Amino acid sequence: MDTKKFLLQENDIPRAWYNIVADMKNKPMPPLHPGTKKPLQPEDLYPIFAKELVHQELNTTDAWIEIPDEIRDMYKVWRPTPLVRAYGLEKALDTPAHIYFKNESVSPIGSHKLNSAIAQAYFCKKEGVTNITTETGAGQWGAALSYAAKTFGLELAVYMVKVSYHQKPYRRSIMQTFGAQVIASPSMSTKAGRKILTDHPNYQGSLGTAISEAIELALQTPNCKYTLGSVLNHVMLHQTVIGLEAEKQMEMAGEYPDIVIGCFGGGSNFSGISFPFLRHKLTEGRDIRIIAAEPASCPKLTRGRFQYDFGDEAGYTPLLPMYTLGHNFAPANIHAGGLRYHGAGSIVSQLKKDNLMEAVDIKQLDTFEAATLFARTEGIIPAPESSHAIAAAIQEAQKAKESGEKKTILFNLSGHGLIDMAAYDQYFSGDLINCEVTDEDVAKNLEEIKDII
Ligand SMILES: *Cc1c(COP(=O)(O)O)cnc(C)c1O
Repeated sequence: MDTKKFLLQENDIPRAWYNIVADMKNKPMPPLHPGTKKPLQPEDLYPIFAKELVHQELNTTDAWIEIPDEIRDMYKVWRPTPLVRAYGLEKALDTPAHIYFKNESVSPIGSHKLNSAIAQAYFCKKEGVTNITTETGAGQWGAALSYAAKTFGLELAVYMVKVSYHQKPYRRSIMQTFGAQVIASPSMSTKAGRKILTDHPNYQGSLGTAISEAIELALQTPNCKYTLGSVLNHVMLHQTVIGLEAEKQMEMAGEYPDIVIGCFGGGSNFSGISFPFLRHKLTEGRDIRIIAAEPASCPKLTRGRFQYDFGDEAGYTPLLPMYTLGHNFAPANIHAGGLRYHGAGSIVSQLKKDNLMEAVDIKQLDTFEAATLFARTEGIIPAPESSHAIAAAIQEAQKAKESGEKKTILFNLSGHGLIDMAAYDQYFSGDLINCEVTDEDVAKNLEEIKDII
């Protein structure tokens, strides 16, 4: 009988994260202080982030960073995750391609985000932090961090974008189940929030505002740090457990991927699945294609520009070298909320600039068509975000069919969609649309940031 799932033992949970920067010939350019526009020093970040996370963020020399046992113990709750051969999908597509997916949806929270949430909560706890803050858009990061905070005995305050707070009540309930305090942003609890509410009482919030509130609270609360669920180098680092396990599992399957695919918001799950394979390309010259799948409505990698930009709308964060649509870019309200971010993390941006990876953009309706086919053939209802990776994998499998080549395709299933069924409802009732971005829109936002440094 053919093997469906390739399973590792708890003992196989990686002992070190892979820091790809150490192996990059062209390192990402340094983050800059938003005020002085000089390269950031570790001390600049200590008030905001746990020290160990700052050191990971700025580490450009160590390829391997040991995973503390306490974190590996927590990873055991759901790791190693299965690598699955998508026989059902292959059959439906009638393709000679072999399709594998790494199933990160089996985490208790339903997505890959817990890989970094556990690590961040641990390093905060270890240096005596008692409280942490964060922001969340659709709620996946907040949900993951809530569980992680509870695990390590930290108090967590989550600023949730107001529109999502009302539209996605179940993610809020999940956070509250784990004991987090969830605040709709903008709120009256911070200066940043009060200012916006005074000017625009009905403002429904944005990630940029929520970030400002979460940072402000962290700076004003004793023993409190701020945390972020994507974009930053240390988040990419933590997520490499995905690809490191997949590397072993592909070996068990007796195959090596020709193509590795991840959906793309800020880059964490994409980096997680792909960096350990990209390592073979960087260090051994191995031939492999790495593809990021982003929404056509938020196309930073395919249509953005490489330059320094802020991580948030308000311009509080350090300046990062990134492919960006401009920090003022307001993406359409697509259901893949986790992919609505204006920029790409700086490691991925440098890799893209050096042509070590590719990017494709996918239209919303195509993602739901792919998601439905995947659900009907593999039995898992994917997150709208993950469906971008599925759609890209299907495209590659169809190309393989046309050319008659037996390609091996690996994609990351970053999460399940069981809390996103309202989006599926809309798709089935025919109310879902493709959201296009015009060249003028892209140009206008890029024009606004051209003199940033
Ligand atoms: C948050 C999220 C994403 C997008 O974030 P990345 O940092 O780009 O991975 C993708 N899929 C799921 C399920 C998410 O929760």
